[in-house]
Formats: sequence, C-alpha cells, structure tokens
Amino acid sequence: MSETCIFCKIIKGEIPSKKVFENEEILAFLDINPITKGHTVVIPKNHYETILDLPEGEMQKFFSALKKVASMIKKNLDADGFNILQNNFKAAGQEVPHMHFHIIPRMEGDGAIKFPPQMDVDSEYLENVLKEIKS
Ligand code: AMP
Repeated sequence: MSETCIFCKIIKGEIPSKKVFENEEILAFLDINPITKGHTVVIPKNHYETILDLPEGEMQKFFSALKKVASMIKKNLDADGFNILQNNFKAAGQEVPHMHFHIIPRMEGDGAIKFPPQMDVDSEYLENVLKEIKS
C-alpha cells in the first residue's frame, strides 16, 4: 500500500468507488470519467507502479479476474466489443501510478477510440528495430 496513491485509498475505502468486482487480490471499479458506458478499471490490491513491477506469481490471478470482468461487462451491457488498455509511465499517459487495466465497452460505430495514424515502413526498418529490441 502507498499512503499517497488514489487507488490504494479506494482499496482502503478512504475514497468511494463503484465496485464491479472484488476478491482478495483484485478490485474492479467504474472509471470516474468514463470513455464509454461501463468503462472499468481493474487493479491488483498490492501497489505496483507499472506492469513491469507485477510479480510473475500474481499474473495468472490478475488476468483471470480481468477476463472475468471483461466477460461480465460484454454480456450484461450487451456490448458489441471492448478495448483493454494499459498505460505505463507518464510518457504513455499513465496518470495514476498504480498498475491498472482499462476495460472500455464498445458499440458498433461509436467511434470512441481509434489508433493514431500508423507509419508506412519497409522491411529493412522493421529488421533494424527487431535487432534493437533483441540486443
Ligand atoms: P491512466 O491514465 O491509465 O493512469 O488512468 C487513470 C484512470 O483513473 C483515469 O481514466 C481516471 O479517470 C481514473 N480515475 C482517477 N481517479 C479515480 C477515482 N477516484 N475513481 C475512479 N476512477 C478514477
């Protein structure tokens, strides 16, 4: 637990939340500023800043809960689909430094989230990037 973390305060009940799912290790609650109806945030109860800090041993339970909540949302909100988003570090748009996944229900044609423009690159470019990643 972190004393200053908003999500730790939600876990402790110091800040109210609309809980979608809870077990001993995981909490899912409605995002206070939803992108679409039912936008939900899923967090481990232990405080980890980014996904790189999430211990291997906690991954299975976390992803199992994430899938369960996504399935609940898809079915009960009759969503046509959903996005799962996860931001790590400020540069990637992470505002709350407590590892979390967003589940964003989607309806056909809602236009809520789109990929930004993608690069047109050649095979040599990809080969060089691959070398860099694997170095
Ligand atoms: P991120 O930008 O990935 O760190 O997302 C943090 C998310 O937490 C944002 O979508 C916020 O709207 C959401 N959020 C912040 N404070 C609260 C809160 N008290 N209750 C519910 N959601 C929150």
